[in-house]
Amino acid sequence: MRLDVVTIFPEYLEPLNVSLVGKARARGQLDVRVHDLRHWTYDRHSTVDDTPYGGGPGMVMKTEPWGDALDSAIADGYEAGAREPVLVVPTPSGRPFTQEVAVALARQPWLIFTPARYEGIDRRVMDEYATRMPVHEVSIGDYVLAGGEAAVLVITEAVARLLPGVLGNVESHQDDSFAPGAMENLLEGPVYTKPPTWRGHPVPDVLTSGHHGKIARWRRDEALRRTARNRPDLIERCDPVAFDRKDREVLSILGWAPEPDGRFWRRPRDVEE
Ligand code: SAM
Repeated sequence: MRLDVVTIFPEYLEPLNVSLVGKARARGQLDVRVHDLRHWTYDRHSTVDDTPYGGGPGMVMKTEPWGDALDSAIADGYEAGAREPVLVVPTPSGRPFTQEVAVALARQPWLIFTPARYEGIDRRVMDEYATRMPVHEVSIGDYVLAGGEAAVLVITEAVARLLPGVLGNVESHQDDSFAPGAMENLLEGPVYTKPPTWRGHPVPDVLTSGHHGKIARWRRDEALRRTARNRPDLIERCDPVAFDRKDREVLSILGWAPEPDGRFWRRPRDVEE
């Protein structure tokens, strides 16, 4: 996969050299190119922003540097043999970045990121590139960062670990929170490793029983408990066919009951408790 990042803070992307993403780059699974937006400014002050049309506070990133920088990154990518670019625009006003979006982006051969600063990028830049390629505006959460570089790091790490061969153990992400399949819409439960007892805290017996069926069931129960406690909205959204008889028992103990449409809702009695 090829990744291009255009930014006014190339050094902010240094973490892409370490750990999982760094190793994927070293192995040639990820080809990351970071471009300094200011390279495509032509005035003495390397200006990338200007006052907003219509007035108001803050500054807006200008069309020209972005257009020239993106054209150059795109031309360079095509020359290197990359195909089918997708523009990923981090913005708090984008669609939520979820595991599902990460899976979809991991299937793309080429992602181009446009982390912005100030009040964001002049809208015409996204409109222009939308005529040439898919454009995904994504938000990593309901809060506002000072810039999009941290969002690029988040998205890149979530995407890179899904690429074939990047994680040592291919099964590692199958049990993850939000992983498609049996655990879809459930958070992963707690995990443990040696020693068996630490400062008086033992590991749950079932995990050392060697009984795979019981361990799988315990993990599922814990996932249900954690999701019901931390993200009840995920349980409410779950397709009820995903719940087996034992899931339903656990949910019932936790105060959840099926509505006539089959979806689970927490009983009001328990909400008041
Ligand atoms: N005025 C903008 C708004 O309210 O939508 C906020 C601009 S923010 C200060 C500057 C840049 O940080 C954004 O253009 C985007 O690149 C990035 N950013 C901030 N919060 C983000 C979030 N939650 N998800 C993704 N990118 C974000």
